[in-house]
Amino acid sequence: MDYKVELKPYIERAIETRRYLHAHPELSFKEEKTSAFLREQLSAMDVEFEDKYEGYAIVGYVNGTQDGPTIMLRADFDALPVKEDNDLPYKSTCDGVMHACGHDAHAATLLEVVRFFCDHKDLVKGRIKFIFQDGEELLPGGAVRLCEQGVMDNVDESYAYHVASLLPIGQVGLCRGAATAAVGAYRIAIKGHGGHGGFPYLSKNPTTCAAAITNAINQLVTTHVDPLKSAVITTAYILAGTDNIPNVIPGECVMGGNIRSLDNDVRAQLCEDVKRIAEGICAAYECECDCKILLGYPATIIGDAQYDVMAAVCDDMGLVNGNDKPQMGAEDYAYFTLEKPCCYIQIGMNDESAGPVPIPHHNAKFTIDDVRGLPIAIEFMIRTYLKALEK
Ligand SMILES: [Zn+2]
Ligand SMILES: [Zn+2]
Repeated sequence: MDYKVELKPYIERAIETRRYLHAHPELSFKEEKTSAFLREQLSAMDVEFEDKYEGYAIVGYVNGTQDGPTIMLRADFDALPVKEDNDLPYKSTCDGVMHACGHDAHAATLLEVVRFFCDHKDLVKGRIKFIFQDGEELLPGGAVRLCEQGVMDNVDESYAYHVASLLPIGQVGLCRGAATAAVGAYRIAIKGHGGHGGFPYLSKNPTTCAAAITNAINQLVTTHVDPLKSAVITTAYILAGTDNIPNVIPGECVMGGNIRSLDNDVRAQLCEDVKRIAEGICAAYECECDCKILLGYPATIIGDAQYDVMAAVCDDMGLVNGNDKPQMGAEDYAYFTLEKPCCYIQIGMNDESAGPVPIPHHNAKFTIDDVRGLPIAIEFMIRTYLKALEK
């Protein structure tokens, strides 16, 4: 197949769709109009919907003409509470909301991939299950609910991509094993006993206790984690007392931060360790402790055979792997990877016209080169599906 010729109309539509979605962003779990727009487009195609899911996610199938596996392709479509600082003709029309992570591109790509296979059903063996997913950016994320409702039960394997503004056109980010980290957050409320700065022995100072907890939990990575595995513990905030009031010992202190690892079990262990240490140190300092652990997304684990599929497509398309390392960010596609073998790739779409230094995701000046990037993404996902069938 001559992809360049064959895909031209799909690419033109994808750029148009992406820019429409970019101009009309909606926050996580509030994507009513985005979902309705995508559903209307899909309804004009020869697809079958699966309508048992709560929320704004759209799940359905492109049924092939021959027997074969069920391969799931996923795109997310939520935006972020960021005020866009770009001067674009398709700039966000919704004040304070912006597609600053490129999910507009994901939805536009998958829409055209579905359309392509509806127009070329002879290429589909078994069926393609498509998931347009809500709420990726906000915990607990839209994927976990879909998984709990059995969305992966009839799926054999899955593929997805994320745009990458830090990678140039022609490069991808693909790694074996864990692609993104498992995340947890801790919040520790310490209750002591306030008093006079000149008489600390008459108080129970929660700030001293917080300092001891900070030191102890920041040593956990070196003392409790296998050095061949990776983990991060950060203390992000310690709040107590009043600025410029040195003679009042506060009665309370709140602190918190992140716990991350590329290994789901390491994260679980560290979450328990943080809680145990916080409670133990508070007891030693005669303070009350209320330690809450919030589990974020698990690690995105890449299937070996699925990695080989995407790596082979990179070779076929002449794409260079510019980042074969996992990253400590998180992605709720991870939930799908807990259920069935999956692969997830970053596709470089750095917008060189925006300046010499690439703008990171979630930034108010985030842009992508959709004219050069979307053709790569569409061809990549189509080739990925076809390559997966060859296994
Ligand atoms: Zn994001
Ligand atoms: Zn994202």
